[in-house]
Amino acid sequence: RQAIYAGLRDVQATTRDGTRINVMINAGLRDDVANLNLTGADGIGLFRTEFQFLVSATLPQREKQTRLYRDVMDAAGDRPVVFRTVDIGGDKTLPYLRHDDGEGEENPAMGWRALRVALERDGLLKVQARALLEAGAGRKLNVMFPMVAEPWEFDAAKAVFDGQLDYLRKRKKVLPEVIRYGVMLEVPALAEQLDLIAPKISFLSIGTNDLTQFLFAADRSNPKLAERYDWLSPAILRFLKRVVRTLDGTKVDISVCGEMGGRRLEALALLGLGIRRLSITPAAVGPIKELVGKVDLGEITVAMDGWMAAPPADLRAEMVAWAAARDI
Ligand code: PEP
Ligand code: MG
Repeated sequence: RQAIYAGLRDVQATTRDGTRINVMINAGLRDDVANLNLTGADGIGLFRTEFQFLVSATLPQREKQTRLYRDVMDAAGDRPVVFRTVDIGGDKTLPYLRHDDGEGEENPAMGWRALRVALERDGLLKVQARALLEAGAGRKLNVMFPMVAEPWEFDAAKAVFDGQLDYLRKRKKVLPEVIRYGVMLEVPALAEQLDLIAPKISFLSIGTNDLTQFLFAADRSNPKLAERYDWLSPAILRFLKRVVRTLDGTKVDISVCGEMGGRRLEALALLGLGIRRLSITPAAVGPIKELVGKVDLGEITVAMDGWMAAPPADLRAEMVAWAAARDI
């Protein structure tokens, strides 16, 4: 199989009936970028910028951030990179970032984290915004905000970028050629406000790791719950289908960047729901490209429609049989 995957490195993922599927990788460190060439992925759909903060003993200085972002874009070349602003706080605490309410939140995953921290600690997002804008000088820059629950949170974060853009413009600095802003869909509340956020954004990436923990009210880090709920559950799949349908006809690009997209059966389900962009762990790129090449999109779309209208008792078993019958 390894040989098959290696052979697919220079092959673009295209379904049997001819639809191009975007297969990108998740990354977080400078060295991860080498995986782009190793896998032949279409870009970095999620660059977790907090990794630099987590491996550092002190808050990374702006110049250091700029250097990392520039190196990553240099290495990616023509391929897009989506930089997610820091998702720290909660369980990813930093010794050098003081928490006002002391240590130990009761529910860190739904606590003071991600954009909630970045917006309150304005300096944090300001510095990161400037670093990203400087690194993106003369290029296309993609910025994504994590854990957005309400459209105003996106507005507030974007205003920080606009402020830094003004600063650079006044000093006659070279600005990014294009800036595309997007959000992660991880908090179910945002799904009820897609019509409100859609006109503001260029893309939306579904973070199925956090989204599932919030949909099922099941801590993603609790091993007792790890096997309890299935990604192939109508709860998630119908939810995702509704998101795809709601954004259909808008200019918003949808992708999935959670672990779900890197698993074969789950990826098959996502294709059937209308997802055409996946950002996954590098090791999954080969297997997912191979899967895509075997899938007839028309066929899986009809099958998913049927399963969503009347879910079988065990959808996973049903899908295993469906895939086996087609040598997928
Ligand atoms: C997610 O929540 O699905 C996601 C991709 O972000 P992270 O795993 O970094 O929380
Ligand atoms: Mg997340």
